[in-house]
Amino acid sequence: MMPRVTSDATKLRPWTGDRAPAGWGLGDGQAIPWEYAPAPESRDVVTVKERYGLFIDGREASASDGAVFATVNPATEEKLADVARATTTDVDRAIRAARRAQKKVWGTLPGRERAKYLFRIARILQERSREFAVLETMDSGKPIKESRDVDVPLAAAHFWYYAGWADKLEYAFPGRVARPLGVAAQVIPWNFPLLMLAWKIAPALAAGNCVVLKPASTTPLSALLFADVCRQADLPPGVVNIVPGPAAIGMHLVSSPGVDKVAFTGSTEVGKLIHRAVAGSDKAITLELGGKAANIVFEDAALDQAVEGIVNGIYFNQGEVCCAGSRLLAQESIVEPLVEKLKDRLSTIRVGDPLDKNTDVGAINSRQQLEKITELVAAGVAEGAELYQPACDLPDRGYFFRPTLFTGVAQSHRIAREEIFGPVLSVLTFRTPDEAIEKANNTPYGLSAGVWTEKGSRILSMVRGLKAGVVWANTFNRFDPTSPFGGYKESGFGREGGMHGLHAYVRLEDRGA
Ligand code: NDP
Repeated sequence: MMPRVTSDATKLRPWTGDRAPAGWGLGDGQAIPWEYAPAPESRDVVTVKERYGLFIDGREASASDGAVFATVNPATEEKLADVARATTTDVDRAIRAARRAQKKVWGTLPGRERAKYLFRIARILQERSREFAVLETMDSGKPIKESRDVDVPLAAAHFWYYAGWADKLEYAFPGRVARPLGVAAQVIPWNFPLLMLAWKIAPALAAGNCVVLKPASTTPLSALLFADVCRQADLPPGVVNIVPGPAAIGMHLVSSPGVDKVAFTGSTEVGKLIHRAVAGSDKAITLELGGKAANIVFEDAALDQAVEGIVNGIYFNQGEVCCAGSRLLAQESIVEPLVEKLKDRLSTIRVGDPLDKNTDVGAINSRQQLEKITELVAAGVAEGAELYQPACDLPDRGYFFRPTLFTGVAQSHRIAREEIFGPVLSVLTFRTPDEAIEKANNTPYGLSAGVWTEKGSRILSMVRGLKAGVVWANTFNRFDPTSPFGGYKESGFGREGGMHGLHAYVRLEDRGA
């Protein structure tokens, strides 16, 4: 279901290098003189307003002090819009609106009625999918083919899926009564803005909770377009509230005594701060934090498929993915051919305008993130790893970074230990399955891992040894709303997706209690 990062380029160039095969009328081995024609997606499907307000109690509102902040297109560095910057007064108002709606309307609505709203939201997301995809790409820098084929369809799929549970909670938790927790405070990051919103809002609403959500400051627009979807779906006022604002607003939101549940996705550093802020209260909390996943390739794996999986694992969404396969663990006997194939494949990756339908790697989300990637790559070179980047022209403006591959990486290098959150792959080697497990687990994180081998028994034994919330076998970055996702160790705790994701938004009571 999850499309690969790109297979278009390989389909069009099924031979090695840019030389014509016989029979193409160009003369054997002659250089192919073609380039992709630009294939820009039209911006006309979306109207980007000059100014966006907060969404509180079903209405668009200015911030209490009238302040705004700008959101920019990271591919062009142009300002897209001004967005109202919520104050603590606004957040408190949003929490009160959510509480009112939860007590008086949403929490008392029969599940089958809640389901109708969720189905309606899913349907509207599908109907407006192009608009969402283009806006998401403009605000975040991700390639249009990913927002179009992954982010938006998966966001809609989460609403479809949880709509199905809303009237079946007694079957989800047999013998128990599932009660809503109340008001959920949700803080989301910038790498999958709409999808993270869907992961958080859909199960919360299905279980009868109301929400106040703070989007990341660099990507508030799809959440504010979602506010329009809530209005279109006639969702009762106060059920969903959206309060863009700086980090301090996120902290105020999660710390408020008016919220019953906190859900956060983002950096481990901020996750720890939020965990501390919530400690000592009776709030429920789930944290989905960073990762440094190992993608493990055994010598018996189908190498060409593995190469596609590795590319998907680390260059999808510019590598700005918490579960990115940023450490390639290759069995020593195949490391050379594997790296050769990877380098070859990297030369076909197209970096550039995210709105171009042929683009594989778009813009890095912000200047700050680009600086972080640049700094860590420089650290990799300084520590002695060998850097490879394919020759490719980067646009003159915008925040772009070449797909990067490091060989000769040691476990102690920063690029092998720290979450880079960029299109940077570190290649390490192993000899035995035990060594692979030991190296894969040698990280403070534990979010995801990949195993490539043709032996089913080896997959099963590796899965038992890997300390990762998700292990993909002979694939990578596959997501499905029915399947739980979450981490161990410094990758956080709690699960989103599936019935586990629903569980995080209910209080279970014995029948008759
Ligand atoms: P953050 O964790 O800082 O941001 C995620 C969300 O939390 C944003 O909405 C942010 O708001 C908010 N936030 C930031 N500080 C606080 C706080 N003290 N209290 C409450 N909310 C807060 O990620 P960054 O954007 O700074 O990225 C830094 C690094 O984190 C990246 O380089 C990457 O390594 C990692 N990261 C990991 C993600 C993951 O999914 N695992 C997602 C994003 C980043 P605002 O945008 O206003 O700052």
